[in-house]
Amino acid sequence: MSSYWSLTEQEARDLIYILLYSMRTDRAVAQAVTALREFWETIQRCDEHAPSSRDRLLISVLDARRLNPDWWRLHLISSSDVLYQCDTCGRLQAISIRAVCPRYRCLGTLKEVQQQDLEPNHYLLLYGESDMGRLRVEEHTAQLDKEKAREFQREFKEGKTVIWAGARAKTIAEE
Ligand SMILES: [Zn+2]
Repeated sequence: MSSYWSLTEQEARDLIYILLYSMRTDRAVAQAVTALREFWETIQRCDEHAPSSRDRLLISVLDARRLNPDWWRLHLISSSDVLYQCDTCGRLQAISIRAVCPRYRCLGTLKEVQQQDLEPNHYLLLYGESDMGRLRVEEHTAQLDKEKAREFQREFKEGKTVIWAGARAKTIAEE
């Protein structure tokens, strides 16, 4: 027998472990590709038989697809709901599948947390308020006439407009 294959019991065990581990990863990738392909084909089949284009799950936009907003479903998370927080990136999730963090390339583990135990968070507090106030957004570009532009600048300084959009808006906001 060649000396290359003279492994100690520990080395043999390690080698088998490494081989099994790599096979498991390959299998997982292949299964993920198959599952995603089946999802895609099922959605396409359902959309082809949808009673109208408004009933489709995906809407064609140029050469891409967009989720039809009529199918979106949202629900409010109450203070008694259990949330999951990643122990690495800190992101909060409403669901946990085998405690794996769904953030791209994060290897963290999701842990159960109660909403009241979380550190104060600006957005959580903001969304929890019954009256969020009005949000006014205006375009501020060179296309505006001077009088309208001055009016928007004045209202922005008075705090009546929260967001501006346009290349010139950034410069004025910094003045
Ligand atoms: Zn994470």
